[in-house]
Order: sequence, then C-alpha cells, then structure tokens
Amino acid sequence: MNPAPLVAGATLAGLGLAVYQSTRYAWWTQPQAWHWPRVLMYHMVSPHRPGARFNKLRVPPARFEQQVRWLAENGFSFVHASALAQPHTLPPKPVCLTFDDGYHDNLAHADPVLARHGACATLYLVGDRTGGWSSKKKAHHADDELANEPKLSDDQVRELIATGRWELGGHTATHENLPQLDDHAAAEQVAYSRQQFPAVFDTPSPSFAYPFGIFGPREAAFARDAGYTLALRADGGLSDPSTWDAMAVPRIKVSGKDRLFSFKIRMKRGRRGW
Ligand SMILES: [Zn+2]
Repeated sequence: MNPAPLVAGATLAGLGLAVYQSTRYAWWTQPQAWHWPRVLMYHMVSPHRPGARFNKLRVPPARFEQQVRWLAENGFSFVHASALAQPHTLPPKPVCLTFDDGYHDNLAHADPVLARHGACATLYLVGDRTGGWSSKKKAHHADDELANEPKLSDDQVRELIATGRWELGGHTATHENLPQLDDHAAAEQVAYSRQQFPAVFDTPSPSFAYPFGIFGPREAAFARDAGYTLALRADGGLSDPSTWDAMAVPRIKVSGKDRLFSFKIRMKRGRRGW
C-alpha cells in the first residue's frame, strides 16, 4: 500500500485545522496597545451546574485563578474602575476586573483569589438583591436560575469593601431594562446607588454599569447627571481611553467556557477572533 496519499491527507487535515484555529483565534495578529485598559466583565465564579443554562456566566474557581495568576505574572496592573476616569494616570498594562449583579460567590470564590495574587475588583451591585428582579427581564436574567442564585447580603458587601480590594459601582435598584422605563423611573434607577450606597455602605459608587448592557443617549445622559465619572457597556472589547466616550466604556466578556488560551486572545485583541 502506498503511504503517500495518507500522508498528503494528513497534511491537508493539519493545514485545515491550522487555518480554522487561526481564523477562530487570530493568534498571529498584533495586540491592541497594552496601555488601553482591559476591562473584564464577570458575573459568577463558581463551578458549572450540570445542564444549567447560564454556565457561561459561571467561571469555575480554578479557571478564574489561572486567569488572575496569568495577569499577575504577565505584568498587568490591577485597577479599580474609578481609575479609568483619569486615563493619563493609569499604570502600564492596566486591567480592571468587574463583577455584575452581586452574587455570593464573589465573596466565597473570587475574593480569595484576588487576595492571593494582589488583585482588586469593582462590583456593580444591584440595590435590591432579595426580590425576584433577575427573573423579570430579558437577556441573561430571563429565568429563575439566576433569581435563585445566592446573592451577597449588605453585611457581606461591607466585608468585601473592608478588604480594600473591592470598589462599588451602580447597577440600578432592581436591574431594570432602562430604555423601557419612562424618564423619571429611568433617572431614579440610574441614580439609585449614588443616593443610597454612601449611607448603606459608607462608600461612594464612582461608576455605573448598564443592566444587560442596554442603553441609549438618554441613559448615558442620566448617568452623567447622576455624577458617575464612567459608565460601562457589556460588550465592545477594547478602545483608546484618550478618546473613548466615558459613558459608554467597552468591556471584554469572560465566558465561563473560555480556556486560558482564549482568555489570552481576548486580552490581546479584546475579542476572541477577528
Ligand atoms: Zn446585571
């Protein structure tokens, strides 16, 4: 039997795989400028649940530690979101870890990892974490799986703040889809943490994250009026902090399904592939 066709076949298959991997991850492309802040969006740091719908929002603790360790070992400087409002004062290779909503595992699983690697994070905390807010709206909060996920109590939030590792940010009172509200209700939701957090947690909330990442010019104006120096999207990758719109700062989603290789690509390019 002539082995040549087999070898040729294997070579072609290998070439096909390489093209696929290259296209998928664009590993050879130049990184975006490293002084552009990498603003990473997380929700939960917890093990996947078999058959659960929202495992992409659950980064397993060991994988989260791998990511934070990699950042620490590769010269990234961890900053709070408030620091992004003054881009010229940022350290080299700034990275800002953000957590949306206020899940209990942020204390149980994420904080110990931050402590071990000298990292810090910003928590976009929903004011009312006791009700069924997360089952009311569309997008990733659309069913009871996340409504039933344990949330941080006020005392646990104070515990996080006391570590010095966590900064608070606003994420509305009840996690509303803001464009669906009238002017008065939307403005109140946006301003909620500015008015409440200083009294409840003895700390300000210098920045804001739009629930579901859904917003328009009206919501951006409300965020500015409420006194936030920065408001974060739920997508968008990377942009130049000297020219970005501070009321629409992009973030890089970290999926619970990302392995370290795809995480590195996202850190380099702001997205997985092209
Ligand atoms: Zn949210």
